[in-house]
Amino acid sequence: MTVPSSTFVPDGLEALAFRHALRHFPTGVSVITIPDGDGAHGMTASSFSPVSLNPRLCAVSVNKPGRMHELLHATDGYYGLSVLGNRQGAIADFYARSPWAVSAEVKMDVRDGCPVVRDSLAWFLCRKWGVYDGGDHSIFVGEVVDLGAKDVGDVSPLIFHHSKYFELGENIPRGSEGGV
Ligand SMILES: Cc1cc2nc3c(=O)[nH]c(=O)nc-3n(C[C@H](O)[C@H](O)[C@H](O)COP(=O)(O)OP(=O)(O)OC[C@H]3O[C@@H](n4cnc5c(N)ncnc54)[C@H](O)[C@@H]3O)c2cc1C
Repeated sequence: MTVPSSTFVPDGLEALAFRHALRHFPTGVSVITIPDGDGAHGMTASSFSPVSLNPRLCAVSVNKPGRMHELLHATDGYYGLSVLGNRQGAIADFYARSPWAVSAEVKMDVRDGCPVVRDSLAWFLCRKWGVYDGGDHSIFVGEVVDLGAKDVGDVSPLIFHHSKYFELGENIPRGSEGGV
């Protein structure tokens, strides 16, 4: 791999360099939800990715040892993907089981027996369509069987960048001169 000399790479620490480079890519934040016994299990995921319009497919990449991986592998029912808004960072921390997470009861709506996060910007009810090996993660592709979304004017997404949460800044008009 050729790395331009102006690029910061921690000495000899390829794994750290990989993580460092990845953090330059900001993402939205979603929560995967799935029935678990009498309740629900949730997991914060920044790997949410739209895959196909026809059929309607969305993917998430899930760490292999972990409860969510186990539940998604086992299910032949529905699971939910909820897109969080800028005021829902506490929910993201809660379902990431972050040490600083505030213990809270997250309110859910139930759609066809499956929980989704109440007041999320958008929710997708999915049925497992394919599972692909992704190294230490598995990529779960789900077919969207139902969905809901807020109006664009009413919402601002939660953004994850360099391990911190942000909200959207100023709009840059398309076609304007950028700072390249
Ligand atoms: C903004 C944000 C985005 C995130 N995006 C993603 C994402 O896209 N994909 C993703 O996978 N994670 C992501 N995470 C991390 C994820 O939310 C947490 O690791 C969460 O606790 C995993 O939930 P779980 O139910 O799968 O695992 P839990 O069962 O709660 O376990 C938590 C972690 O413990 C470890 N663990 C559990 N069981 C075992 C075992 N038997 N052997 C060894 N280790 C074990 C695993 O590392 C596991 O991930 C994100 C976190 C944040 C804050």
